[in-house]
Amino acid sequence: MKLRRPAARALASMLGIGAFAVLGVSPALADDNQITAGHVDIVEIDCDPGAGGVAQLEVGSHIDDNPFGSDHVDPGDIGDYSFNWTYDNGDLVGYGSNAYAIDVPEARLSEQPYVGFAYDEENHCAGISAPNLTVQLTKVSGSGNSTSTVSFAGAGSHNLVAGGTAMTLAQHDHIHGAWTVGASSETGVSDVLQFVVKNGATTIGTVQTTFVVHS
Ligand SMILES: [Zn+2]
Repeated sequence: MKLRRPAARALASMLGIGAFAVLGVSPALADDNQITAGHVDIVEIDCDPGAGGVAQLEVGSHIDDNPFGSDHVDPGDIGDYSFNWTYDNGDLVGYGSNAYAIDVPEARLSEQPYVGFAYDEENHCAGISAPNLTVQLTKVSGSGNSTSTVSFAGAGSHNLVAGGTAMTLAQHDHIHGAWTVGASSETGVSDVLQFVVKNGATTIGTVQTTFVVHS
């Protein structure tokens, strides 16, 4: 797998990821879509100044420092990726109280995924104000305990799974922190997660992807 990555990266670089997918080499692509390290904004809200100075928002994800280099992934493609951590006796990923605790500092993003949230981080909407947004997470399905939760502690503590607190993001917020992924045993877990981004009562975008913790 690792030997293929440089070639895949070069090809993806030449053709773009979209074109790469169109070529129909999905087995190799699926392999390389397992993100095991790097900087990830699992919800990235891009802002562009629209006509009349109105902020136009697009919800997607941003993956960086991984086999694809740096890329904003649109919501139609992010489901093709999974974000993978490996239990390491608590160095970066620990286990206890029926959950994995993931706390990767930025300095060690080359070892395991460093995952957070970003909103107009590139300041494309300089001088234009954009609304505060909320992010609510729903666990669509999971291989572990069906009642287990996923929580994020960065800007306060957020049990992001349905029924828990939604997280508020303001323009220019860029927040990383610690994740807790419920698992009824120490045998790993795979959860399909949906992050719904709203402006007030209006949904402006959804990111659905998979978090995996390997035992
Ligand atoms: Zn980030």
